[in-house]
Amino acid sequence: MGILEVKGVNKRFGGLQALGDVNLSVKENTVHAIIGPNGAGKSTLLNCLVGKLIPDSGSVMFDGQSVLGRKPHEINQMGISRVFQTPEIFADLSVLENVMIPCFARRDGAFRLHAYETVRREAGIREQAEAMLADVNMADKRHMTAASLSRGDKRRLEMAMCLVQTPKLLLLDEPTAGMARADTNNTIELLKEIKAKRDITMCIIEHDMHVVFSLAERITVLAQGTPLVEETPENIKGHPKVREAYLGE
Ligand code: ADP
Ligand code: MG
Repeated sequence: MGILEVKGVNKRFGGLQALGDVNLSVKENTVHAIIGPNGAGKSTLLNCLVGKLIPDSGSVMFDGQSVLGRKPHEINQMGISRVFQTPEIFADLSVLENVMIPCFARRDGAFRLHAYETVRREAGIREQAEAMLADVNMADKRHMTAASLSRGDKRRLEMAMCLVQTPKLLLLDEPTAGMARADTNNTIELLKEIKAKRDITMCIIEHDMHVVFSLAERITVLAQGTPLVEETPENIKGHPKVREAYLGE
């Protein structure tokens, strides 16, 4: 039994079958990559896992509980966090303030009570955010505005904003898209460091095979909305069906 179990998931957009009978099992504390050509349904699948899309049929179980029918913030509270294709950071805030945002995300009670709680919690949250930034080697940049960061550091910041929520499962949708080689390599190193430091499962959608082969323990190949094979990196490299469908050979 994996920490994430997707069974028979279907999703149509009008006449287009974006996902057809998708099965996926992600084992706890592993890095699992999902690869496949453009339009294969990778982002659609991720959206079904985080509650942004609701599958037409099938089941999605996380940590023994169904995520279907739950709102994105509820799924987030269950322990699934997501890194977006374009970093979702607050450009006008400092690096430190950005990492404090997800710590404040729980909003309940009347406004006055909420404001009181917010102020009371701030000191602790600041400390927590500082520790997180130290963990991703950004302590020295904590007072810079997020807008002034390099592309690689924006990605690093976004990662910190996810990790500060201590997710059990981190979903990454093309984390190195549009990056230069140096930033891509930094991202690979960062993900390796994160993995080494904590118990976390990662599910990574990635185009760059260098990234995939550097990180993944299992690889699922998605083609036209359906998983083609699920294998170890070694077996994926030489797989004739994969070469044909994905590498276009
Ligand atoms: P990938 O991430 O693998 O490139 P997507 O999951 O984004 O693929 O898309 C799979 C297919 O579904 C594509 O043909 C895409 O055009 C289509 N699609 C994705 N999202 C929508 C949507 N909201 N409405 C209609 N079609 C969509
Ligand atoms: Mg996509």
